[in-house]
Amino acid sequence: MAFELPELPYSKDALEPHIDAQTMEIHHDKHHAGYTTKLNAAIEGTDLEGKKIEDILANISQHGAGVRNNGGGFYNHALFWEVMGPNGGGNPSGELADAINAAFGSYESFKEEFAKAATTQFGSGWAWLLVGADGKLHVSSTPNQDNPLMDVAEVKGTPILGLDVWEHAYYLKYQNKRPDYVSAFFNVINWDEVAKRYAAAK
Ligand code: MN
Repeated sequence: MAFELPELPYSKDALEPHIDAQTMEIHHDKHHAGYTTKLNAAIEGTDLEGKKIEDILANISQHGAGVRNNGGGFYNHALFWEVMGPNGGGNPSGELADAINAAFGSYESFKEEFAKAATTQFGSGWAWLLVGADGKLHVSSTPNQDNPLMDVAEVKGTPILGLDVWEHAYYLKYQNKRPDYVSAFFNVINWDEVAKRYAAAK
């Protein structure tokens, strides 16, 4: 069974003005589609065919660059679309808010740490909020299409929020101003979805 490009869970202009429709269209229909096609090509005829993406990523050090880059790209973008939404923004609540306060001191401190991870990741990569092996929340960043599920990640765990800081994610609207894109991202975070992922991961 080949991996399939997931549909966006909202329309391409749903995240305007924070993330523009043209960026969403190219990002999903071209970039994410490309990772999906190339992942399928990379695993075709190998024993990775039919495996869950999470299981492939957990042993990524044993596979080639094609599986690492495109497997990461396939997984990361699927998560990215889901953790954003047209009714996003605001603050986390409930158990997730408690865990954020416990790990970072406050929501504002978490925001600062996450934004710093996103803006200081050199070149292409991702910023993450993840549940570590210790059951606690951590912020990290990874290069390229790596993610915390990979055995090669510096900070390992289950990602529950991710921000794509590749230039293709923001250049049309924000050009070189990555910090503005990172600030705008907080207006579209779907905290209900992040809370769901937290509850499943902890
Ligand atoms: Mn991307």
